[in-house]
Amino acid sequence: MKIICIGRNYLPHIQELGHKVPTEPTFFLKPESAMVIRNRPFFLPDFSQQVEYEVELIYRINKVGKYIQEKYAHTYYDAIGLGIDFTARDLQRNCIENGNPWEIAKAFDGSAVMSQFIDKEEFDDLNNLDFHLDLNGKTVQSGNSSEMIFTIDKIISYVSQFMTLKMGDVIYTGTPKGVGKVAINDRLEGWIGERKLLNFRVK
Ligand code: MG
Repeated sequence: MKIICIGRNYLPHIQELGHKVPTEPTFFLKPESAMVIRNRPFFLPDFSQQVEYEVELIYRINKVGKYIQEKYAHTYYDAIGLGIDFTARDLQRNCIENGNPWEIAKAFDGSAVMSQFIDKEEFDDLNNLDFHLDLNGKTVQSGNSSEMIFTIDKIISYVSQFMTLKMGDVIYTGTPKGVGKVAINDRLEGWIGERKLLNFRVK
């Protein structure tokens, strides 16, 4: 499986990082080895001084597709969860400045925290999914699926022009504003609506 991550999909987050607003989705990949599931702890790597959380809605692909039209894209995912796109911000900044790829900043072990997935039929309105992240009991990020610049259907259509989507692939759809640094012993808890999906420690 592959993990596809969309960058720059919420305007206030783009502004907080000082990036340009994209006209097409920007995406990058994380390998399967980046996954952390079942609320296992996240181990802070020693190669970065600034590892930041980015809470994101994540969508699970349920069939193979290429050149998927936007109007059919909703039939290619069956479940939604919550993820953290952990980012070594200091390394990312260096990569961007030097025109290098981002993998050391984005694709390291543990950088793709994934909750359990909820069947999409269980949500009343997929275009109105509230989600938020608490750091040590205080809400630090909150967003709603309606605020995405590129919808999940647009993302699926766009990405599938370049790479075949396969069953079990997961798409991270970008983070709202409020990203910040984590430290050892932090507790992160995440919700979609009233459903608590993430609850893990940083070690
Ligand atoms: Mg992200």
